[in-house]
Amino acid sequence: MSTSPQSLQRAEALARFDLLSVEEYDITLDLAADESTFRSLARVRFQSGGGSTWIDLKPVAVHDVRLNGEPLDPGLLDGGRLPLDTLAGDNELVVDATMPFRNDGEGLHRSVDPADGRHYVYGMSFMDAAPTIFACFDQPDLKAPYTFHVRAPEDWVVFGNGRATSPEPGVWELERTQPLSTYFVTIVAGPYHVLRAEHDGIELSLSARASIAADLDADADELFTITRQCFDEFHRLFGIRYPFGAYHQAFVPEFNAGAMENPGCVTFRDPLIFSSRVTRGVRIQRATTVAHEMAHQWFGNIVTPKWWDDLWLNESFAEYMGVRVTAAVTEYADAWTDNAYARRLWGLMADQGPSTHPVAGNGAEDAASALQDFDGISYAKGSTILKQLAAAMGDEVFFAGVVDHLTRHRFGNATMHDLLDSWERAGARDLDTFAANWLRTAGADTLTFDRAAGVVLRTPPADHPADRSHTFRAAVAVDGVWEDRPTTLTATETPFEVPDGAAVLLDPYTESWSMTHPDPETLAALKTLLPVMEDDLLRSGAWNAVREALHDAAVDPADVLDLVEAALPVEDPEDGGRRTLAWVQSWVVPLAGRDALARVHRAALGKLAATEAGSEQQLAALRVAIGSSTDPTELRGWLDATPPGIELDLDLRWRVLVRLATLGATDRDELQAAYDVQPTNRSRIEHTRAVASLPDAEAKAWAWDRFTGKVDVPNYELEAAGAGMWRGGQEELTDPYLERYFADLPTAVAGRSGWVQADVVAFFFPRGAVAGGTLERARAATDDDTLPRAVRRRIADEADLLARRVAVLTAYPRP
Ligand SMILES: [Zn+2]
Repeated sequence: MSTSPQSLQRAEALARFDLLSVEEYDITLDLAADESTFRSLARVRFQSGGGSTWIDLKPVAVHDVRLNGEPLDPGLLDGGRLPLDTLAGDNELVVDATMPFRNDGEGLHRSVDPADGRHYVYGMSFMDAAPTIFACFDQPDLKAPYTFHVRAPEDWVVFGNGRATSPEPGVWELERTQPLSTYFVTIVAGPYHVLRAEHDGIELSLSARASIAADLDADADELFTITRQCFDEFHRLFGIRYPFGAYHQAFVPEFNAGAMENPGCVTFRDPLIFSSRVTRGVRIQRATTVAHEMAHQWFGNIVTPKWWDDLWLNESFAEYMGVRVTAAVTEYADAWTDNAYARRLWGLMADQGPSTHPVAGNGAEDAASALQDFDGISYAKGSTILKQLAAAMGDEVFFAGVVDHLTRHRFGNATMHDLLDSWERAGARDLDTFAANWLRTAGADTLTFDRAAGVVLRTPPADHPADRSHTFRAAVAVDGVWEDRPTTLTATETPFEVPDGAAVLLDPYTESWSMTHPDPETLAALKTLLPVMEDDLLRSGAWNAVREALHDAAVDPADVLDLVEAALPVEDPEDGGRRTLAWVQSWVVPLAGRDALARVHRAALGKLAATEAGSEQQLAALRVAIGSSTDPTELRGWLDATPPGIELDLDLRWRVLVRLATLGATDRDELQAAYDVQPTNRSRIEHTRAVASLPDAEAKAWAWDRFTGKVDVPNYELEAAGAGMWRGGQEELTDPYLERYFADLPTAVAGRSGWVQADVVAFFFPRGAVAGGTLERARAATDDDTLPRAVRRRIADEADLLARRVAVLTAYPRP
């Protein structure tokens, strides 16, 4: 146990796959004995070609190891690997070890609910974490069935990939599963509140912490309904039954990702159980997440990518199918609109950034660096390309190929080539060219309308040239009336004539993949057209075009602010607002000049006054007004009395307190008192955000201790501390930390691994530091090979976004 664990290399995975096939895992966990560790007994039966290999194991202590009955020296464990000298044919390995409960959202995560002091556990095996739960051959293509036996405190319930029953208090037996990859094996255990239902022969259940039981109860109907609707639609589209038995959806604390698709036992971040009033956009996001994880039961779980370079086969499909099915069969028919706001810019920035990679064959050479490819390219770009592909080949061929793929490789692993072969068998043509341009070449074309020349220009990125054809509907407004115009671009210049003064939006419905800048006349026209635009999806396309142009320094932020001012009072702030206004706060306000925040605030107040009491638009307008207020009296007024139709719930109370803290208009006593009134998990996170936002040296040092790891806090608190750290107007306090950010990076990274290690670097990155050499320091850090590769990549991505801000200020300087 000397050297630190290293991530699995692709070549090693190939060699081990050639040597072994795993017959079964039988795992016994004792979660009841101790609060910091648990006992894990793994019995692994496998076939070998004979010879040496290793099993992955990251324990606190090893008590006994036996291979084919012979004891092995646990002292041989090195870097998370225990060498094995296998026999040709049948082998049985038994590993008895003590494992750590973790608090970083990986392995078996254990947390204490501040609301009632109860303990909760869930497993997240993804990417290198399974061996901290049980000894295993940790790679996606060594699948095997699992049988779990769990001992837990008597007031706990236990869920896992196999259906769980409790023959006696504190003892749980889980049914043997279908063959699973290690990365989606899980156990969820604790005094969870559980709701059960059934649909079409599938047992359904939901769980959440006991302290949010009432919130789960309130949401259960909606969640079960979406689950039922999606099962029916997936069964209809694929004609392949969900094969993993019961379907449990566990909402768990301090989860790093949005959700994880573990077969039979999906885990979600529990802020998705709403403790305060939310608006429609948030519900759409949750619905698409539910559908996305269900899509993974087919894409990812029945057939799994052989290696991480094909993770798009998981994520692009789940993203595409999740949104498509949500829009088709749930009450959220507008799911594509929310998707356009939430995902397109994210994907385009990733695709234009320094770490861009092809959708397929991202080149991931080890498992840890593949984690960083769970990015806007693997989700948003991949989804758009599949949407395009389905439109081009038609649903019949598209699904025939998919079903061929799922059937041929059922419970096994496959590659992109296998899928392309399936589509060809189903009758698809010209896939080679399509795959070469869209799946195997990185980067996005930029499309611009050259009004004077009467053409649309298609400019591929210089570093990633390709001859990509685009097919989409453009939208053209003549005398204020929008009309769609079917458009195909197959050359660098395509004639595109419009009447004088017409506004032009290229690909506003996200049917292809490109950066689309509005030309100056269109931008000017949008100031009158946006406020009366009725089509929500078209409006998302208009906003995305403006956002893309600003990120390319191709539009003046002052013009964007005019647009916000003109459009905010009339448009639904939940889509055009929640997404766009978060962007306005971080991209437009700091770059558009001194009065920008005041103008956004005035527009929000106008909206608040004009909207109907009790409407979601009213709630969204109040949130914007809180976030943009600089007047403590006004803010305290909302603490005393919210506008009619709005209740001051936990969410709103903390929004006001965080804003007061940022302005220096509250103190630690008031914040602590607010926490003590409702000491929930959410309050603890918001309390952290508020304290870190206070404009005093002590608060910044307090936040910084969380960055360096001197004070160890879970992921959500870490994120909140980072958000509070750098507040506009507090530069005198925070400027010294610009230098310290880079000096302390090695310390911040040293004690962390996996998700949190790269996340903490992004949470605390000084995003607004456009002056003072931060960009140069960040670029130097990306070349510092003493930092982990994943960390350097995150800094490179942040540096790219900072460089875009600097470019906007250079192009449009402010006095
Ligand atoms: Zn996914």
